[in-house]
Amino acid sequence: MTTIVRAQILHTPRDPFAAGAADALEAFSDGGLAYGPDGRIVACGPFADVRSAHPDAAVTDASDAVLVPGLVDLHVHYPQIAVIGAMGMTLLEWLATRTLPEEARLADTAYAAEVARTFVSGLARNGTTTALVFGSHFADAQETLFAEAERAGLRITSGLVVSDRNLMRELHVTPEAAYAQSRALIERWHGRGRLRYAVTPRFSLSCTEAMLEVCGTLVGAADGLFLTSHLNENPAEIQAVAELFPWSRDYLDTYERFGLVGRRSVFAHDVHATGGELQRLAAADASIAHCPSSNAFLASGIFPMKRHCAAGVRFGLGTDVGAGTGLSLFKEGLMAYHVQMVREGGELIGPAHLLWLATMAGADALGLADEIGDLSPGRSADYVLLRPPAGGTLDAVLRNSPSAEATLGALFTLAREECVAEVRVAGERVFAADRAMPTAPSAARFRAPPAPSRR
Ligand SMILES: [Zn+2]
Repeated sequence: MTTIVRAQILHTPRDPFAAGAADALEAFSDGGLAYGPDGRIVACGPFADVRSAHPDAAVTDASDAVLVPGLVDLHVHYPQIAVIGAMGMTLLEWLATRTLPEEARLADTAYAAEVARTFVSGLARNGTTTALVFGSHFADAQETLFAEAERAGLRITSGLVVSDRNLMRELHVTPEAAYAQSRALIERWHGRGRLRYAVTPRFSLSCTEAMLEVCGTLVGAADGLFLTSHLNENPAEIQAVAELFPWSRDYLDTYERFGLVGRRSVFAHDVHATGGELQRLAAADASIAHCPSSNAFLASGIFPMKRHCAAGVRFGLGTDVGAGTGLSLFKEGLMAYHVQMVREGGELIGPAHLLWLATMAGADALGLADEIGDLSPGRSADYVLLRPPAGGTLDAVLRNSPSAEATLGALFTLAREECVAEVRVAGERVFAADRAMPTAPSAARFRAPPAPSRR
């Protein structure tokens, strides 16, 4: 049976960086999203139109809520939930004193399973339906992450993190062991349901050439494997990489040399990119995960968004927990907005850009642009219902919102996990807040005034 969800609907079926913000945002103040029993969207538009086209559909009334596509997090570390908020350090000190010791605790598989449960449910309760997850250094811990992601029903791409120098001894493996463990995980999890595998060297700083060579071999081990790592995050890190790889032109070259830069490669940060690196990233069709909270938190720097746009380098948003300040992509979008606003000569981005970066841009980086990212017919019904707590600040702002764009700006500014009421992947519920969703039409508490279907 077809289902219609009645809500205020916002999505970005067009790229605001190309089309302009006004043309990118599509909004229906009294909207209907219809999807079939297979979880595919069949219609999205004004509720009255969708209803009359599907008179036999079951209607779920969420007209007091805002519906947006499922959010996509392009860079988030599963083992780092416990270090969120470790202030007062830059990257290399933060890794050595707080983060790597915490990651070493995941050698205890029972603890890893507990972290995996907290992490995966944290993604869902923040409205994140798809993520490229930086995994654990331990194969058993990585196994628990995949198992938990499968149980939860999220779209997760992840892999064993491999390193053989410059971390802690407990986190190092030989290239031979990294190969064998990664192969076993690929065979077990890659392409299973909504899960895919990403070959994950931590960063060049923690990998010998032999390890990067193994990663190059692994990337070709099965169709559709991803590659993820870090790039150009912090000046001290970049300097150290240059010293370890004296033959390299720049940081990107240390990955290129081993065949690790291509359409299914996603590198986090790229705060200090050279012009040559941007050109080569664009030519290779690789993607960047922009993580503005983390970049500010560790004093890494301000992402050169305009230069990435000009070079034609694809980028989306990553929360980068635990240097990032939480799992919310609304929070992350607000941070992206803040830092681009204060960057001298920076470009001004608005709510439509933020929604695009938090949805379709990430979907595109993950090769899922035909499947998710907006609410067009044919795509999977991955969506989030947002219902701010009654009487709170966001509730008051939305009641007086003059336009769809203003509503979206208020959501990025104020909506956090307490506003996420329900989350679905392919029409299947993956999260519901304790507050039960009203099913009776009379439960409507907030409804935008009648307006043109697109504002
Ligand atoms: Zn990271």
